[in-house]
Amino acid sequence: MLQTAELYKSMGIDEEVYAFGEDILSSLKERFESIDETAQYNQLKVLRAMQEAKVSEACLLPTTGYGYNDLGRETLEKVYAGVFHTEDALVRPQITCGTHALALALMSNLRPGDELLSPVGKPYDTLEEVIGIRPSKGSLAEYGITYRQVDLLEGGGFDYEAIRKAIGAKTKLVTIQRSKGYQTRPTLSVERIGELITFVKGIKPDVICMVDNCYGEFVERLEPSDVGADMVVGSLIKNPGGGLAPIGGYIAGRKECVENAAYRLTSPGLGKEVGASLSILRDFYQGLFLSPTVTAGALKGAVFAANIYEHFGFPVIPNGTEERYDIIQAITFGKPEGLLAFCRGIQAAAPVDSFVTPEPWDMPGYDAKVIMAAGAFVSGSSIELSADGPLKPPYAVYFQGGLTWEHAKYGILKTLQEMKNCGMIRL
Ligand SMILES: *Cc1c(COP(=O)(O)O)cnc(C)c1O
Repeated sequence: MLQTAELYKSMGIDEEVYAFGEDILSSLKERFESIDETAQYNQLKVLRAMQEAKVSEACLLPTTGYGYNDLGRETLEKVYAGVFHTEDALVRPQITCGTHALALALMSNLRPGDELLSPVGKPYDTLEEVIGIRPSKGSLAEYGITYRQVDLLEGGGFDYEAIRKAIGAKTKLVTIQRSKGYQTRPTLSVERIGELITFVKGIKPDVICMVDNCYGEFVERLEPSDVGADMVVGSLIKNPGGGLAPIGGYIAGRKECVENAAYRLTSPGLGKEVGASLSILRDFYQGLFLSPTVTAGALKGAVFAANIYEHFGFPVIPNGTEERYDIIQAITFGKPEGLLAFCRGIQAAAPVDSFVTPEPWDMPGYDAKVIMAAGAFVSGSSIELSADGPLKPPYAVYFQGGLTWEHAKYGILKTLQEMKNCGMIRL
């Protein structure tokens, strides 16, 4: 029988790279234990929500047509509300992605004359057109909804004075992005989000606080809805889909906020009552069930990568020892060769399309070529092992996911092997 090291070798990881990885790993025991403890807590949280909502075999069956009285859909939404400790939730395959879920939450809860405030700087790229920061058809701006932004302070702190000044009579909704996304600012912990919400509500109690929860679900024991958020919003092809959901988004929150979103998603008067689930519910349930451990695996991969690349002097955000609040790892290589080698490694480690070589391409909306590596079961799913970065200085890669820790580990070792082979590092 082949030993693990030999099997690695037969799959392109030499002894030196393997041994180096094991060495780094031996220093991460406590770290991984704490990640596992969080996963244990969140697994119980999800399980309890499923039991309390009385998920039954009938909930997993397909529905068609209007989807009136769709037991599985209604129960799943109860489960999400149970997990996030909210009054209600909207969890639908008709919500096509995270941007759609966020746009829906915003457009349905804002009215002409209202103002939207981001007290945490510029939101995720795709929201620029939703808000109208970059003009677009059907943006909030076109409907007479204005936007204000307060940037974070130099060190990543909240600019409380400026936020106080920015909240006015028109301020209806405050949007808070938990994950740094593809920026260099720190990701916000749930605790810090809670402090910000308390401050905002102290000034204006009836303002709606919405959190873009993408990439953050199940990384901590608490979710933003546990610390005062009126709505949490995310994508099912990230953490909460557990790698099984093939599409979808969710909005969990106060009844009125969720109802507004449902009336916008389907139609005024119909709201949550329609929207057949087809045969997707089993994947939604099972994906949510697996999500705490899948998220833990992705986190371990991120921590492992940070510790490996930090060792070679590459700037990593977050660093090897920092507390984690999302699953994204940024590594700066300073040279295009590093970015390309890293992406080659991730691609070569994939279960799907491992034989293709990722090439930089002109992606719409970007001013430089972008390289992306992913060999996913669900197209574009970023809870699966994936990496991307713009081919321009400082040549940083943003890396995330891994449906299992074992796969993330192999992928990262593969990137290291590529880096070694092209002379970017010496072991
Ligand atoms: C991914 C992401 C989005 C948008 O999600 P899509 O599914 O790509 O549309 C929004 N905000 C953050 C922080 C994200 O990470």
